[in-house]
Amino acid sequence: MSYKVIKNGPYLLMKAPENYPGLKYRGKYIYEHQYVWWVNTKFICPTGYVIHHKNKDRHDNRFENLEIISQKSHTKLHSLEKSVKQTFLICEWCKKIFSRETRNYRQQIKNGQKYFHCCRSCQVRTQQKHRRESVAL
Ligand SMILES: [Zn+2]
Ligand SMILES: [Zn+2]
Repeated sequence: MSYKVIKNGPYLLMKAPENYPGLKYRGKYIYEHQYVWWVNTKFICPTGYVIHHKNKDRHDNRFENLEIISQKSHTKLHSLEKSVKQTFLICEWCKKIFSRETRNYRQQIKNGQKYFHCCRSCQVRTQQKHRRESVAL
């Protein structure tokens, strides 16, 4: 079966076949992945569920790349993806491993920061220790 695919944002859109039972975008279009799912399963994606692209390539509409998951877990899946990069550091005071947004860490290094702390109270303790040491000198 041949059909024309139109790009629409991250997804591919196509003209819906006459007999397509699902909702149509602007009354005549559907996403290609919806079409592929329907052709292969004879079902349309139920409400509350979405068709997800397993390899994250939203143009890769091969049936084996598609799966149906609940809207809730889908949102979770993609928000994890978008989450900011973290750098792992060891707290100068308590030696606990903690994480910090990488771009914040880079900025702090740029600002000449030498010590990193998991929390404010560890930071205060290191500062007090350094103060005591400099007084002792
Ligand atoms: Zn997805
Ligand atoms: Zn600490």
